[in-house]
Amino acid sequence: MRHLPIFLELSDKLAVVVGGGVVAARRTEVLIKAGARVTTFATALGEDFRGLLDAPNFRHEARNPEPKDFVGSALCFVATEDERLSADARAAAKAAGALVNVADRPRLCDFIMPSIVDRNPLVIAISTGGASPILGRMLKARLETLIPAAYGRLARLTGGFRLAVAKAIPSPTMRRRFWEAVLEGPIGERALSGDDRGAEAELARAIERAAADSAEAPRGEVYLVGAGPGDPDLLTFRALRLMQKADVVLYDRLTDEGVLNLVRREAERIYVGKQPDDHELPQSEISALLVRLASQGRRVLRLKGGDPFMFGRGGEEIEALAEQGIPFQVCPGVTAAAGAAAYAGIPLTHRDHAHACLFVTGHGKDGKIALDWGMLLQPRQTVAIYMGLRNLETLTREFIGHGADPELPAAIVDNATRAAQQVVVGTLATLAAKARAAELSGPAIVIIGTVVTLRDKLDWRPRALPPSSAAEDLSPAASEKD
Ligand code: SAH
Repeated sequence: MRHLPIFLELSDKLAVVVGGGVVAARRTEVLIKAGARVTTFATALGEDFRGLLDAPNFRHEARNPEPKDFVGSALCFVATEDERLSADARAAAKAAGALVNVADRPRLCDFIMPSIVDRNPLVIAISTGGASPILGRMLKARLETLIPAAYGRLARLTGGFRLAVAKAIPSPTMRRRFWEAVLEGPIGERALSGDDRGAEAELARAIERAAADSAEAPRGEVYLVGAGPGDPDLLTFRALRLMQKADVVLYDRLTDEGVLNLVRREAERIYVGKQPDDHELPQSEISALLVRLASQGRRVLRLKGGDPFMFGRGGEEIEALAEQGIPFQVCPGVTAAAGAAAYAGIPLTHRDHAHACLFVTGHGKDGKIALDWGMLLQPRQTVAIYMGLRNLETLTREFIGHGADPELPAAIVDNATRAAQQVVVGTLATLAAKARAAELSGPAIVIIGTVVTLRDKLDWRPRALPPSSAAEDLSPAASEKD
């Protein structure tokens, strides 16, 4: 993050704008809206000021500012083409201790102006750190159409009742649920439809009801959610919704950082992961933890890499919940083999190559892998092996030892769907050595079968990242708007 987003309290504070053009007019306008006492210095004001002239907190001085004009000001926008004036104004404003923004001169700015979606009192500010004001503006346009104008109404309604609710419902968890129910339920609908009075009356009644039964402990629940193989874009809508509701999240080393960042920010994070050999929290302890947290009335999110019911021991984790009568939901995810197949251009089945695909685990103890070789060696099928990287040598040797063609195409997809994805292609005879040479870090999926040859035609992703071009020093624009 290049800049820290904050919202400035400016009501009744002095703010200065230097310039009379369109940018100065826009800056003046937001300052007026934010309740600042605005003085705009410009020998002449452009057309764009027309709607602003009557604002009680706006004053126009038809001259250039002097240093003493900045004394006591909190914020200053400089938006004039006159270089000399611009430099003088900036220096004087800084000397007066004001935060300064000079239009189009990022290096001279204490802050940049975001694109703003205004649903007063709800305000969304968008910044691309100056990297792409156009992208910021596109996003603003999307949000403008996505967020009904009436959302401000919703914010005003809840704002008026916050104290009353805090008094009536002391438990923060219960309070949050109360507000969620209000905003997502009939009361919120009523406010959105414009019936402020009706919404207020219903909200007041709901608060009374909640105060009466807030003694009752909230009911916890568990969401067992498949987070997919890594790329956060592969999450389901439902996964995202549950991630946004969680009070606490249990995750492991298969959980991608980008995915974790989409979990509700306030949720407590508990790492229950492991490295391949040293054991993670034993399954029974994870189950016990899920039970304990849910019994405290919390919404517990158990994030699993890929799909929770695919070699994820998700079933075991929730057995205890079922036994204890704790409510839970399971949300499927894109399993690693599916993600790897798509992102490496290797279809798992294909009319000319494979009519079936087996998903197996290559995890073995003491170098021995217990697999049903008769089943694995059938023709016209694909075998996708999870947890096979460490035993790859043994695995491929056993395939050949049990009669498979050493020339059978095979691939390994490391860190599938992530930026660091690596695909190594070979045959049963060569794959292990090639994988070793590539120093794969895992997690990795092994795909065995003639479908691997289709990659040459179907790979749609760039095979290697271009060497990073000498870092251009693109300075950020002073504004996301300009
Ligand atoms: N429930 C998960 C699998 C858990 S077992 C799922 O449905 O995908 C862990 C194994 O999954 C790893 O050893 C590896 O074989 C595979 N895996 C998980 N994420 C992966 C990724 N991003 N790329 C390749 N393989 C992955």
